[in-house]
Amino acid sequence: MNKYADQVLKDLRAKNPNEPEFLQAAEEVLSTLGPVLDANPQYKENAILERIVEPERVVIFRVPWVDDKGIVRVNRGYRVQYNSAIGPYKGGLRFDPSVNLSVLKFLGFEQVFKNSLTTLPMGGGKGGSDFNPKQSPHTPGKRCSDAEVMRFCQSFMTELFRHIGPDTDVPAGDMNVGGREIGYLFGQYKRLANEWTGVLTGKGLSYGGSLIRPEATGYGNIYFAENMLAMRKQNFEGKLCVISGSGNVASFAAQKLLQLGAKVLTLSDRSGSIYVKDGITPELLAEVMELKTVKRGELSEIKAKGVQFVAKKNSWQIADKIDAAFPCARQNELNGEDAEYLLKHGCTLVGEGANMPSTPEAIDKFVRAKIMYSPGKASNAGGVATSGLEMSQNSERLSWTREEVDAKLKGIMKSIHDNAWEAAAKYGKKGNYMVGANIAGFTKVADAMVAQGVC
Ligand code: NDP
Repeated sequence: MNKYADQVLKDLRAKNPNEPEFLQAAEEVLSTLGPVLDANPQYKENAILERIVEPERVVIFRVPWVDDKGIVRVNRGYRVQYNSAIGPYKGGLRFDPSVNLSVLKFLGFEQVFKNSLTTLPMGGGKGGSDFNPKQSPHTPGKRCSDAEVMRFCQSFMTELFRHIGPDTDVPAGDMNVGGREIGYLFGQYKRLANEWTGVLTGKGLSYGGSLIRPEATGYGNIYFAENMLAMRKQNFEGKLCVISGSGNVASFAAQKLLQLGAKVLTLSDRSGSIYVKDGITPELLAEVMELKTVKRGELSEIKAKGVQFVAKKNSWQIADKIDAAFPCARQNELNGEDAEYLLKHGCTLVGEGANMPSTPEAIDKFVRAKIMYSPGKASNAGGVATSGLEMSQNSERLSWTREEVDAKLKGIMKSIHDNAWEAAAKYGKKGNYMVGANIAGFTKVADAMVAQGVC
């Protein structure tokens, strides 16, 4: 590894020993930047690595709220404002008991490079809370009611609102933060700030949301994969695909794959995976989407014909023949053993929809096998890119059509693909999208930081 990057990583490990997810993300990026650091001594002279790994600001706050039984509950809220060199902080909010500073720093750090890759003027940030909307605090096995989620969101925004704004920091959704939560958060922001601005993205269509935003991360992941396939003169027709997750990203990735003639064999959630040997039909996918977004249930409840429920928490080691895999649930959900299984069973494409879903061991196996592997920061950037398009529409007070937004999304995913491909080739790593995405994302931010002086 490059000496300068190595030293910065050593210092980072010493300074943040209790942040494994963050250290994993930082190592994954810094270990690939050697060629660009060698060619650009100004980055070391300006301490770019030391500065880029340190968030510009972290806000941690108390979120008190009252549950349906009248009991006061307290959660912890966060906003990590990572880097604003190329635009206002931008990145989602995650509500999950696994949320802590390490997870949000990893997500915020990734977001800096991802947003840079979109070519839109957006800095990087991430936030959220350890609040669990999927478990009521007073009734085991029940979810929080809509009223509880609303009171939590209102309390969360009561502190967050003073740190964000349309030209400062524009949050969006992430795991467990969808249309319902964005609506409650936006309503409270509007009351407190006494202004209607596009301060959150992922809004409902009736109040400033963009067409295609819900679909954008999943569709974008598949558009990126189509570009990878095109380099090898292939397409999705008849390809056997496995997907993990059944939330926002997974379900729209599945929808796009079906539209392109692929077969989707699996989806998963915390209860396990569903496996359909002949491929999930559009009708079954619609049933899954309703189950997850309206009834808020579990995949184990699906009883349709031909559906096999496998009580395993991921989808990798179920099917016998696999052409492509799309991890779309959570970080570190695909390990070295899973990677080996996929490769052994024919998989030649892995498109990450989630953030950092493959462990370093798994990535190593994909890169060595020279399969088409796209890191999340490149292939899941369609969501934030379309959030950027939502911001533009809000500023213009205009709404673009579905076709217009979809065409722009396709164009952005192609340019992310091409930039990553070209950067990898330029630095001697042809075909390695991970190296290419890291270098292309890093260079733009680093150049802006050099230009702006020590700040
Ligand atoms: P959702 O909350 O809509 O869906 C998450 C999915 O992952 C659900 O199916 C959930 O199951 C499953 N899951 C979560 N934790 C576990 C676990 N411990 N074990 C097994 N399954 C689990 O989130 P999104 O689809 O929005 O996000 C998924 C990933 O994509 C995340 O990594 C996110 O950061 C990333 N991403 C999302 C973007 C977006 O626009 N939404 C943009 C870019 C990246 P269950 O329903 O049982 O909880």
